[in-house]
Amino acid sequence: MAKPLVYNATLLERVDLTDALTIYRIKPDEEPAKRPWFVPGQYCVLGLNNEVKPELGSVRRSMSIASAPEDADPVEFYIRFVAKPESENPLTHLLWKLKAGDRMYMRPVAVGVFTIRDTVGEDDPRARVMVAAGTGSAPFVSMLRSELCRNPDADLSKWVLLHGASYASDLGHREELQRMVERNRLNYWGTISRPGGDQAWTGDTGRVESFFEPGKLAMLERRLGMPEGGFTPKTATVLICGLQGTIGSTITSLVDRGFVPEQKRMREALGADPAILASLFYEQYDTEPVINIKDPATIDPLRERMRAALIKYGLASGAA
Ligand SMILES: Cc1cc2nc3c(=O)[nH]c(=O)nc-3n(C[C@H](O)[C@H](O)[C@H](O)COP(=O)(O)OP(=O)(O)OC[C@H]3O[C@@H](n4cnc5c(N)ncnc54)[C@H](O)[C@@H]3O)c2cc1C
Repeated sequence: MAKPLVYNATLLERVDLTDALTIYRIKPDEEPAKRPWFVPGQYCVLGLNNEVKPELGSVRRSMSIASAPEDADPVEFYIRFVAKPESENPLTHLLWKLKAGDRMYMRPVAVGVFTIRDTVGEDDPRARVMVAAGTGSAPFVSMLRSELCRNPDADLSKWVLLHGASYASDLGHREELQRMVERNRLNYWGTISRPGGDQAWTGDTGRVESFFEPGKLAMLERRLGMPEGGFTPKTATVLICGLQGTIGSTITSLVDRGFVPEQKRMREALGADPAILASLFYEQYDTEPVINIKDPATIDPLRERMRAALIKYGLASGAA
């Protein structure tokens, strides 16, 4: 049983977007010693003691920060209630009982390398295609907000956010992102996988990873002003955040365009030469294997597709 946590933060506000999706705004007791105190894309650990069943102790979980590091307001998190948890003391079930003013634990240190600095690099001129399912949009929202905190007129035209959810109401931060489309030239498309009955929805439908399926990639290329076949690591980098299904399916589709994942074991399994720079990065919220690289029936065809794509798009020499 995990030891009780000493609370060091207050929940200032919760915004329930739906029954299962909530924005939490949390204020740590201690002001950070310096600002900015994290890099967009990093995460914190939140924790609670189980007051109703003290015998279950405490629980802590990683949560991506959705607010900008330059923002002096409370720290924002975008969290999904997990209806079928794996543990006997799930954090989200305790979080959902909280109300504004309640105390909680927030580790006052942010960690993680899913940042522009540690992935594509700050000065990379290529399109930054951010693929998010559900609350996986949190790190990307932080990145975009940070750009605007530093320059409200920033040109966001190389940022591309593809956000998938079940219903339109699940597309968190939609109005704010839409404003960035209008004012800052952000490329942003929400897509919903359960459009049935939602007469008002005129946007994309299907899961977010379907943007990269062979039949739909040309549409994305048109929207981004690229020629057909132009979406490759020469023009774009891909950042994915969410659960295994989104990450695995996106990697599988983009193998045919020569996108090499950063993760060492994955790139080795795909037979990508170490000299080729990574062009696909991901942050995973669950622990399922992204792709079963131990299964020859899965990995062998992918390796062959990667080999063919690296030759076809002139990437084999490490020029990506
Ligand atoms: C680096 C990192 C950052 C994270 N950031 C966020 C975040 O910003 N927002 C957020 O909602 N979650 C985030 N998570 C997931 C979070 O840490 C917990 O795993 C999740 O809240 C479930 O915890 P629990 O204790 O309620 O359930 P547990 O008993 O731990 O249940 C685990 C189950 O929850 C499922 N699960 C985990 N995350 C999600 C999710 N987002 N949507 C649907 N199912 C999920 C897993 O598939 C697994 O089956 C992050 C995870 C990591 C590793």
